[in-house]
Amino acid sequence: MSCHASRVTGHAVYILARVVKEVLAFCQRQAPNEALGVLVGRRCQHQGRRYVRVTDWATGSVDASPVHAEFTPQGVVECHVELDERYGPDRRPQIVGIFHSHPFGGEPSLSERDLATFGGFPYDAEGNVFVLVNPSTGHFLVFQRDGSGVLVEQEWVEYGPEAPEGGAGSER
Ligand SMILES: [Zn+2]
Repeated sequence: MSCHASRVTGHAVYILARVVKEVLAFCQRQAPNEALGVLVGRRCQHQGRRYVRVTDWATGSVDASPVHAEFTPQGVVECHVELDERYGPDRRPQIVGIFHSHPFGGEPSLSERDLATFGGFPYDAEGNVFVLVNPSTGHFLVFQRDGSGVLVEQEWVEYGPEAPEGGAGSER
């Protein structure tokens, strides 16, 4: 499996359109509780630039309320089992980030607690993508750590299943 860059430059995060749609729908189903899940895909490097492609997502049991969501220990296992089942243990894409929702208010922002959680292991891996969704407004924000470790909102590209330049091949 190889990574292919599209012609679009200036963005480091690419999210498959199906993933955007499914994650939004999932967050809507979980409302009024927060929703939580992992993002999977590939970390790539092309002409010296690093970028991340998000190609799928998964979730497991979550301890959730309207202002909180956290995987149960079993939920973490379920995420891995689900991905193993879907891809086979040898062909699994990497976990490249996490999404959660704030099903209240308008444009969501990361809370102090989010910043504390995502600032440490296992979320501090380089290039990890943090998606924050407000299912009632449709906000879908992407954050990444900048050079100094601060989480900053990032522009991102939603891409279709067809490779933009052809030749990138279908993955199915
Ligand atoms: Zn939060």
